[in-house]
Amino acid sequence: MALVVQKFGGTSVANIKKIKNVVQKIIREKKAGHDVIVVLSAMAGETDRLIALAHSASESPDEREYDSLISTGEQVTVTLLAIVLNSMGYRAKSFLGFQVQIKTDKAYKKARIKHIDTEAIRKELKKGAIVVVAGFQGVDDDNNITTLGRGGSDTSAVALAAALKADHCDIYTDVDGVYTTDPNICNKARRLDKISYDEMLEMAITGAKVLQPRSVEMAKKYDVHVYVKSTFSDQGGTLVTKEDKDMEREIVSGITYDRDQAKITVVHVPDKPGVAAALFSPLSDNNINVDMIIQNASLEGFTDLTFTVSKKDLKEAQKIVEATAKAVGAKKVEVDDQVAKVSVIGVGMASHSGVAAKMFTTLANEGVNIMMISTSEIKISCVIQRKYTELAVTVLHDAFGLEKKK
Ligand code: ADP
Ligand code: ASP
Ligand code: MG
Repeated sequence: MALVVQKFGGTSVANIKKIKNVVQKIIREKKAGHDVIVVLSAMAGETDRLIALAHSASESPDEREYDSLISTGEQVTVTLLAIVLNSMGYRAKSFLGFQVQIKTDKAYKKARIKHIDTEAIRKELKKGAIVVVAGFQGVDDDNNITTLGRGGSDTSAVALAAALKADHCDIYTDVDGVYTTDPNICNKARRLDKISYDEMLEMAITGAKVLQPRSVEMAKKYDVHVYVKSTFSDQGGTLVTKEDKDMEREIVSGITYDRDQAKITVVHVPDKPGVAAALFSPLSDNNINVDMIIQNASLEGFTDLTFTVSKKDLKEAQKIVEATAKAVGAKKVEVDDQVAKVSVIGVGMASHSGVAAKMFTTLANEGVNIMMISTSEIKISCVIQRKYTELAVTVLHDAFGLEKKK
């Protein structure tokens, strides 16, 4: 008998009909004799609706109340699923984050799970119940409800699998696995049977939203076997696991994109020690993450500094940067909210040259201008105009031959 965690995303539980459909996947595991913990997201679009409501109530909603509000979508789905299961004669019990005691830090909107109390869940499993846990939410030491960042139900599922030492964690979604790129924008994308934690993490960080980056970090740390599967079919599936010898160290294994990017340029800044610190410290003090940064070569003691932030932080970031730019004597601040980041990922890149050149040439051949570049051992990212995202992803996927099985 195994212990399995099954997580269903928003499109999988978008309405009662779909909730009744996931029941089939759950009872199949139960009938096979396994203990089952189900983690659910809110119905598709519900978290967005709640966020919009919060912002219609106030331009900058109180963070404690905001998290309590946006966590409610999951309360609806877990209770509905438990009601359906109970009505079919299965013993099922729903739990919210605070009822389990999914303990997090105090960082509202992006809390990290510190500890999970497994006692209440184990007690129910022992009684033969299917345990249904609300994803995306936790509770801090002062009993405030916290949320784990967008897509956080993946992390709830993997964290529960780690805490309860589950045999595996199945992430059911609207695609049947992890692909070489988003199959919804590139019809030549190829499903991978297996992917290493490191590559999956880099893909998730650079925008492949099929798994939240923190869920992959956690899976790697606790060696949780994660299967990404389709809610709507029994075909396919991708195992996210440790790198092994059957996984080739591909030079390039995937292409990702992130449309949630905005670019800020501080023009004609004095090029002297302390200026970058003065510009970036107030952003980090306000919890605004800066992604890529480039600084031009200095000309007569002045330079331009360009960086990217998440689109949702642009307004606040712009306000902060305009104030500091003035204080440090910069000429002006320019913003561009029509950009995207495309990235080429591969663990084998570290030992091969020429990947960057091929990426730049491929984009140039399509007339796509590269505004910013950043590289790491296993990734190259370029910021481009957002309208070229699909084109860039498709031509890069072709150029690196990802369609064919290697
Ligand atoms: P859920 O609501 O189930 O959590 P998400 O929308 O968060 O689902 O994640 C699934 C989506 O991730 C897919 O519909 C797909 O468009 C997108 N995606 C992006 N990159 C990839 C990739 N490389 N492989 C598979 N799906 C991807
Ligand atoms: N409902 C949350 C969101 O939309 C969490 C999740 O879906 O994983 O971000
Ligand atoms: Mg998701």
